[in-house]
Amino acid sequence: MLRQFDLVLKAALRGRAAHFLILHGGGADARREAFLRLAALLNCENETDPGCGHCLSCRKIRNNNHPDVYIVEPAGKSIGVEQILDLQTKLYRARYEGKYRAALIDKADKMTAEANNALLRLAEEPPPATELALSLDNGEAVIPTLRSRAQMVFFPDDAGDPGTGGEALALAGGDAALAQEISLGGAERVGQLLARYEEALAAGDFLRVLPLAAEMKAEETRLLLLALAARLRAEIAAGRARPEKLVLVKKALADLRYNVSPRLALEVLTLRILAAAPKK
Ligand SMILES: [Zn+2]
Repeated sequence: MLRQFDLVLKAALRGRAAHFLILHGGGADARREAFLRLAALLNCENETDPGCGHCLSCRKIRNNNHPDVYIVEPAGKSIGVEQILDLQTKLYRARYEGKYRAALIDKADKMTAEANNALLRLAEEPPPATELALSLDNGEAVIPTLRSRAQMVFFPDDAGDPGTGGEALALAGGDAALAQEISLGGAERVGQLLARYEEALAAGDFLRVLPLAAEMKAEETRLLLLALAARLRAEIAAGRARPEKLVLVKKALADLRYNVSPRLALEVLTLRILAAAPKK
């Protein structure tokens, strides 16, 4: 069954996404993840595979440091009118580097009455090339004047079947057993770790890997490497990566099985990958 959010992504691919969405139901993490996927798809630099996950724009969005993607959350107990006015100013300003600005108001049921009114003005006169979304558990909690201007997007509750999470399956390269493992380890977390690691590799910056390697639990390092191997298999099949890199990742996974410290295994892997990378 096609989920409502998949329809939003399809519309976005054709340049036809509604400019104002209310994401409700499911879990807050799933909604935020979905919003970031939409923002990535709209801003992706890769025309043949929009939302590729590898380009600079996709990686910045995944790491929450894209200058045109905003997430508003309650400051304290509520989301105040100043926060919405501040967002409005940012959205009407010229874009920094993206094709689209995207703003998510998380826990949107925490908006004060004044904040709701300020947002209503934004929803009535949306800035061009801007995707605005509210995220909350219960869509009915949004005031009717806002709701009537939005496309409601319902997220089904996925608790209970972690193995079929779309993100886990994507990270696992379609391998259902690995997807199940990644789900148990937290697909969102694994995805973020993978993005940070790939960004450090792309920058050729070993020093950025040190805090990452120190921060990760042993199991997280293993899942990161398995997800990296899955991605490399797909990239090699598409002629976008060299098989040597996958050999190095498999070697690091073997090191883990022989009880090499995960931190050391990741650091050594990084040095080997960077040493093997073509010099620019
Ligand atoms: Zn991309």
